[in-house]
Amino acid sequence: MSERKCIRCLLRELAEKDYENIKKYIDIISPSERADDDLYEKRLSICKECDKLFDGTCNACGCYVEIRAASERSSCPKKKW
Ligand code: SF4
Repeated sequence: MSERKCIRCLLRELAEKDYENIKKYIDIISPSERADDDLYEKRLSICKECDKLFDGTCNACGCYVEIRAASERSSCPKKKW
């Protein structure tokens, strides 16, 4: 039996260890350049509904969405946020 994959999952929902590495990248973004919690969660909720999300990665740009969404100046390559 093959392992079931969650296609529209964020890394924080898939593997704690992977998310720890993601968190390290987020933590080095200076607080003044970081999206606030509300904006960050709003962006991720849009990603979770997007057909480009696969295993925490945006297939439109190749980024981990949890890192891309963390920078206030970042934007979605498909202009969804
Ligand atoms: S960044 Fe944009 S295109 Fe990529 S998964 Fe999120 S909403 Fe979809």
